[in-house]
Amino acid sequence: MSTSLVRGRYVICEAGVDAQSSRVIPDGAIFQRDGVIESVGPYDEIKSAHQADPADVELGGAGFVVIPGLVNAHHHGRGVSTFQMGCIDDCLETWILSGWGRRPFDHYLMTVYTAIQMIESGTTTTMYNHAQTPASGLADDLSEVLRGFADTGMRTAFSVYFRERNRVVYQDDQQFIAKLPGDLAESLQRFLSAVNLSEEEYFSVFRSLHQEYAGRPESRVTVLLSPSNVHWVSDDFLLRTKEEAARSNTAIHIHLVESLYQKEYGMRTWGHTPVAHLNTLGFLGPEVSCAHSVWLTDADIDIMAGSGATVCHNPSSNLRLKNGIAPVNAMLAKGVNVALGTDSTALNDDDDMVQEMRLAAKLHRQPGLQQPALNSHQALRMATANAARPTSWQDKIGVLEPGRFADLVLLDLDAMTEPYMDADIDVVDTLLYRGKASHVDTVMIQGEVVVRDGTFIKMDKSEVLREIKEQFSRPVEGQALEATRLAQGLTPFVQEFYKDWGKAEIAPHYGYNSRV
Ligand SMILES: [Zn+2]
Repeated sequence: MSTSLVRGRYVICEAGVDAQSSRVIPDGAIFQRDGVIESVGPYDEIKSAHQADPADVELGGAGFVVIPGLVNAHHHGRGVSTFQMGCIDDCLETWILSGWGRRPFDHYLMTVYTAIQMIESGTTTTMYNHAQTPASGLADDLSEVLRGFADTGMRTAFSVYFRERNRVVYQDDQQFIAKLPGDLAESLQRFLSAVNLSEEEYFSVFRSLHQEYAGRPESRVTVLLSPSNVHWVSDDFLLRTKEEAARSNTAIHIHLVESLYQKEYGMRTWGHTPVAHLNTLGFLGPEVSCAHSVWLTDADIDIMAGSGATVCHNPSSNLRLKNGIAPVNAMLAKGVNVALGTDSTALNDDDDMVQEMRLAAKLHRQPGLQQPALNSHQALRMATANAARPTSWQDKIGVLEPGRFADLVLLDLDAMTEPYMDADIDVVDTLLYRGKASHVDTVMIQGEVVVRDGTFIKMDKSEVLREIKEQFSRPVEGQALEATRLAQGLTPFVQEFYKDWGKAEIAPHYGYNSRV
């Protein structure tokens, strides 16, 4: 049995209960027992209710604001970022290629490092989407990633993405290969064969992981299905995923219309948008979450809202990879559940969700008095209650109330407001205007304190960094070097492929400037 009492000058219990406000208790407290919140209320009341049964420890105090643990709703690991590995930001379609030549890395170490970074900036749950690695080592890679998350205490909605077609450009792999010079074609053929994974292998990996974790609710892991994107798998695979999700009572995570070209692929292939295509298949539903969803039409937004699907908004990544700005205001107006994630490509090249919330809040401020502007309450909700929904813990995290897991974060409000803050300013605005990862003082996941005084305490971070440095000091060789050369050779052909794309007339949801 372990209990704690967590006190804050403000306890933000639930962000964005309506479009303009959050449920906040001034001088509030939370009493948790064995990882589950037992009561939330004014500090004096909670304290006196436990006079005969005092908490083992008391955390926080008048200098802190307490918030629900943040949920990063779209993430691929990569603590040492793609940029640190040598890939400069570019258009998604060529940037993906540049990642092919990344040096091999230790999945356990990389996961531990990325989880520590996220936890130290207030994230307690991540929706981790494993980029397909060679089938031969996949099971080992996955168990190393899961071991990494488990050792850090991070709650993880875990999925492996499946991608089996249109892998270089949005065209059949063999058709594209046929137009390449002989040596490049051969090299590409070899590269793609090495990452081939059959549907049977995919579902077998999913089932064994899902069974393993469904029977261990204390594990802090849920296992989701993940077709990588509508154009990267067959319609049959999408339908099979939908059936498997219903059978296993789990959720589905997919990338969707991340780029202008992905929307255009739908128009060229089916004569309608990818969202309309998914709708025709009957794929969308409340169990589905869609990363990015940047290039949505009004009709697409209606479909998404009607289906109950979640959109995982990734503002940093969309800016960095030249994918534009998702119509979040329009989605919220129609009632779409919009969550927030960093896609491992955050603006500061870290996974700081406090910064990501701020970017979202500032990005969706449309010019003009009558135009909508995302506010602090909505932005915080996107990283808490809304982001909880697609993780399979929708009733367990994201809000501080009795019966939910004690996943929470204390931030140093004194430091955030130094030397003065007008008394009329809402604490949620203060957090969204001035909060930084460096203000995170304490992080609790399922009642367990994992960050104290701003430092991760379950492991020695400096030792993790030392080991990564050591491993990364070795020269890149063999297959990674070959893949880099392959990607460099392919890039001009990829650019040539898209030269007639992206010419359709566009009527944007937001008007940020004008030419005439
Ligand atoms: Zn992604």
